[in-house]
Amino acid sequence: MSKIIASNFKTNHTRKTTLAFCNHLENFLNQKNIPHQIRLFPPNTALLDNYFKNFKIGAQNAYFTKNGSFTGEIGEEQLEEFGIQSLLIGHSERREYLGETQVFCAKKFEYFSQRDFEIFYCIGESLSTKKEGLEKTLTFLQSQLQGIDLDYPKLLIAYEPIWAIGTGISATLEEITQIHTYLKQILGRIPLLYGGSVKSQNIREIFKIPSVDGVLIGSASWEIESFKQILENSLEK
Ligand code: PEP
Repeated sequence: MSKIIASNFKTNHTRKTTLAFCNHLENFLNQKNIPHQIRLFPPNTALLDNYFKNFKIGAQNAYFTKNGSFTGEIGEEQLEEFGIQSLLIGHSERREYLGETQVFCAKKFEYFSQRDFEIFYCIGESLSTKKEGLEKTLTFLQSQLQGIDLDYPKLLIAYEPIWAIGTGISATLEEITQIHTYLKQILGRIPLLYGGSVKSQNIREIFKIPSVDGVLIGSASWEIESFKQILENSLEK
């Protein structure tokens, strides 16, 4: 069954190494029968023309503008030049380190959804919220959907518990199932991804969870050999 596998390079890779990664991946996918939809989100300095046959390049961030005076940001015009049509919004690192509020995330969503972008919208609770219990966690996750039009056809949601991101310790299959089951009731047909320490060793089991429509992967996707292994192991056996 076809699922979504998205790789977030974060602040890793240069233009040169991203190109080498993409060429290698393209060749690998030409030879393998991987049924999944693959997305790569390199840093903005390493965006590449979206000409690859087997995967699409997206952007980790953009400001809600066509162009203008927003020092350090890029807008729609810069994405257009590369044929970029996919965008991450709401990643916990931008919420935490860059201070992006829910209102700000919703503005980005509004702008780029009006321009027909595919939007990978991230939500996820911190460890302290998780410790407050399931009810508090679910209420928190719902608050991160405020201002997001759930009828937008090109919306995907990535559930990424912050405590599982970059720690090497994924949420358990039971934890993913529990939260995803709840989220599915709200999200209906919207594809629901899991993110948080997905790697070659756990992708197969995670993909067996019926409510998991895909994964968003950080660290384990940065090395091409590791990413290839994830893709191999994502196949049903
Ligand atoms: C992420 O930051 O989106 C992520 C899932 O990272 P990692 O796979 O490294 O936990």
